Amino acid sequence: MVDYDVIVVGGGPAGLAFARSLAGSGLRLAVVERQPLDALADPVPDGREIALTHRSVATLEALDAWARLDPADVAPLRAARVFNGSSRFALTFGGTMSGDDRLGQLVPNHRIRRALFQAVEGQDGLTLFAGSTVTEVRTDRRRAEVALSDGRSLTARLLVASDSRLSDVRDRLGIKAEINRLGQSMMVCRVVHEGDHGGVATEWFDHGHTIAMLPLNGRMSSAVLTLPAAAMQRIAALAPEALGAEITRRYHGRLGTMTPVEAPHVYPLVMTYADHFAATRAALIGDTAVGMHPVTAHGFNFGLQGQATLARLVREAAAKGRDIAAPLLLRRYEMTHRLATRPLYTATKLLVRLYTDERPPFAIARHAALRAAAHLPLVRGTVTRLLMQH
Ligand SMILES: Cc1cc2nc3c(=O)[nH]c(=O)nc-3n(C[C@H](O)[C@H](O)[C@H](O)COP(=O)(O)OP(=O)(O)OC[C@H]3O[C@@H](n4cnc5c(N)ncnc54)[C@H](O)[C@@H]3O)c2cc1C
Repeated sequence: MVDYDVIVVGGGPAGLAFARSLAGSGLRLAVVERQPLDALADPVPDGREIALTHRSVATLEALDAWARLDPADVAPLRAARVFNGSSRFALTFGGTMSGDDRLGQLVPNHRIRRALFQAVEGQDGLTLFAGSTVTEVRTDRRRAEVALSDGRSLTARLLVASDSRLSDVRDRLGIKAEINRLGQSMMVCRVVHEGDHGGVATEWFDHGHTIAMLPLNGRMSSAVLTLPAAAMQRIAALAPEALGAEITRRYHGRLGTMTPVEAPHVYPLVMTYADHFAATRAALIGDTAVGMHPVTAHGFNFGLQGQATLARLVREAAAKGRDIAAPLLLRRYEMTHRLATRPLYTATKLLVRLYTDERPPFAIARHAALRAAAHLPLVRGTVTRLLMQH
């Protein structure tokens, strides 16, 4: 006899979405999260603006999370433009379609977390262990067992790890992962500006840095600056006025003077891809399975897709009275999610290489790549469809 049917380790957006996807299945769930309850219930801003595809919005609607967002926190994304160096040429995605939200919607990560928390709060059969860390993991053919930092131990038929890209549970399960530490950091900071962004995101690869502007509501954008880690430390430590001047200068004043409205947040860039998404009585979801580079804005979109795939298989098995962690079921999840994520993960790795290497062959190659993509409607159409994912 086990205490639960499923233990989810990590109450981040992927873990909470998965727990909500199992609502009404009759399964007993335990969600273990390191952060205390009040931090989960009302997460503080972390600077991430998540570009959600239409498919992700539909998933959040189905999970009863979308309606919990304040419309003022949702910004439509009409199109995206990519520039290279001082060239005025831009590759545009989504420009020819109709509708204000041609590519998707931008929503702050902490608001998504709050909405998902509200959606699972009080869910039948769900027990939340907030403020607890998993310190030991054991699995065998019959069950999974985890020990918590407060001395308790829990057992279940299935263990789901969603404890982020440098996952401790993944290590403890003996699953290796490709881990690319890129030596670069990304700073995100909300700024207000004089010019109108028109709902268009820009990504600009220039000498020594990459700068992107994500359009938020009103004359506000999220400035996203990528630099070598050491250089970033110096910039993130600037006083607000000097930081605004630095961002304005790096963006060549395209939207006029920029003024920070929140403290900047800095993320070291690490791309990860687990060698396996499943093991005996265990599965990996969210960033624990696939940790994307933010440049292609797909980490959480993939996280939502993966949790939905696993939840569907688990629900089907439960409804038929079958084992919810049968090896065949877990293999099907792994295969489906690898097929869905590997191509874009690999393309993103190439893109990052192409756009962060400053040596002349790479500068020429990226210019050629942008021009070629612009003249190949198939490439543009495919990328746009991928970004939109209806
Ligand atoms: C700057 C930036 C911009 C981004 N933009 C986009 C975007 O536009 N579109 C997009 O789709 N994605 C984007 N992403 C990616 C997205 O933020 C992640 O994919 C998503 O947050 C991952 O969710 P997760 O639940 O898998 O992991 P996390 O959000 O990392 O959550 C993991 C949770 O597990 C908990 N935890 C960790 N270890 C333990 C333990 N041992 N025991 C218990 N609990 C534990 C943590 O406290 C945390 O709550 C961006 C990321 C960054 C950094």
